[in-house]
Amino acid sequence: MRLELKLALIGAISKIVIFILLFVLMQQVIDNQAVRHTDRDLIKMKDKTISIVDKIGINSFLNIERDSVYASYNMLKDEYISIDIDPSKGGDKLVFSNEAREIEDEDFDFRILNYRFEMNNQHYVLEIGKSVQLINSLNKMIQNISISIILLVLLITILVDIGINKYLLTPLNKMILGKLKTITDPETFDFSDLNSSTSDFVSLNNALNELMTKVAAILKNQQRFTANVSHELFTPISVMQSKLENLLLSNDLPEQLIPNILDQQEHLNRLQQIIKALLLIARIENDQFAKDETLDLNELIDEIILNIEDRAQMRNISIENKIPSGQVFGKVNKSLVYILLFNLISNAIKYNKDDGQVQVSCFNDDRNFYVKISDSGIGIERDQIPKIFDRFKRADPLSGEGYGLGLSIVKSIVSFHQGTIDVRSELGVGTTFTVQFALKDVNAFYSA
Ligand code: ADP
Repeated sequence: MRLELKLALIGAISKIVIFILLFVLMQQVIDNQAVRHTDRDLIKMKDKTISIVDKIGINSFLNIERDSVYASYNMLKDEYISIDIDPSKGGDKLVFSNEAREIEDEDFDFRILNYRFEMNNQHYVLEIGKSVQLINSLNKMIQNISISIILLVLLITILVDIGINKYLLTPLNKMILGKLKTITDPETFDFSDLNSSTSDFVSLNNALNELMTKVAAILKNQQRFTANVSHELFTPISVMQSKLENLLLSNDLPEQLIPNILDQQEHLNRLQQIIKALLLIARIENDQFAKDETLDLNELIDEIILNIEDRAQMRNISIENKIPSGQVFGKVNKSLVYILLFNLISNAIKYNKDDGQVQVSCFNDDRNFYVKISDSGIGIERDQIPKIFDRFKRADPLSGEGYGLGLSIVKSIVSFHQGTIDVRSELGVGTTFTVQFALKDVNAFYSA
């Protein structure tokens, strides 16, 4: 998961937890406040009632002789007042409670103020009630408003966080996307300084540049070493080859030595092929080839097919050139592109089944041009795919002839033309190699 997303998620989760706690706390405060507010209202109503009773006399409300009770409620039955004689004769006393009361055969829950008072030597009890439902609906409204405000604030803070994280991590993304993801070769690495006020990112960028400088130097040394060793070995091996050839032509050679010499010749030949391949890779990696030729892809494939046809025909393998004519490239090295496609087509035949097929096709999008070599061959095991471009690596070391250098050459030629290569394979079904060239690198004469 990307750091930016991770930070946004962690920020969002911690905020949600804080807001939930805040909401629970607020809920309690709202509940408490609602009860207090109601109680205050009830006290005000009580004071008003008592002052009216004082003014117009209690007898206007109830008749003691007839033992009557005064009771009044509003139309919606969410508020009521009752005055009755207090048989317990308690003194001045104010009590609040939540209780149910029956009004016109219906039960209602009320917050009730119960007030006992004395007037004209008589004890009375005044009860004022407010419907709990009414209080709850008020609570619900406040709750809904607070949830909306909390959600809005939560959303705004999460969005602001995402924006801030994105801004802060821009230099890191620049390093990952601009430098690390595009790296194909330490030499073409983007060694530019990082423009950022975050010192950690600047240090990281500097460390990366230093590391790449060291890697490039080591690689260069290694390439030079391979080139030198291969070059030094090539001459003595050629000399030994010609000496063995002369020996074979000599009349004094005892017959029993001939098979031995032929065997030695085969070994030397193999060694020579390997050294040639290593020398070629070293020369490509050391940029010892020009890249200023043009080629017609369709013609080049036809040329390769002509040179390789015999091998294909021996196993009844068909090769189809599906490249339309007129696909002309500039800014390439023709011999190298020839070797690149030859090696891929040669492998497509070598690792094919009898009566199989090989197809060479191409397509392009806005930025790239792709050449596809597909075969109906034996396929490559999934875990072997990442290794097949390594030098001397063969998916099946015991299968057929080969040195495990063909794809290393392919890879170095592709990199030399700033391209990439992709492999898709299914065991027993076939393999497709797709070579991608950036149009900007080959399009000097490209015609779609
Ligand atoms: P080799 O000389 O062994 O052919 P390469 O470098 O050309 O060396 O290929 C490396 C390995 O990749 C081969 O040994 C083979 O196992 C595998 N390979 C390459 N191309 C194909 C293909 N078209 N189908 C199946 N396997 C392939």
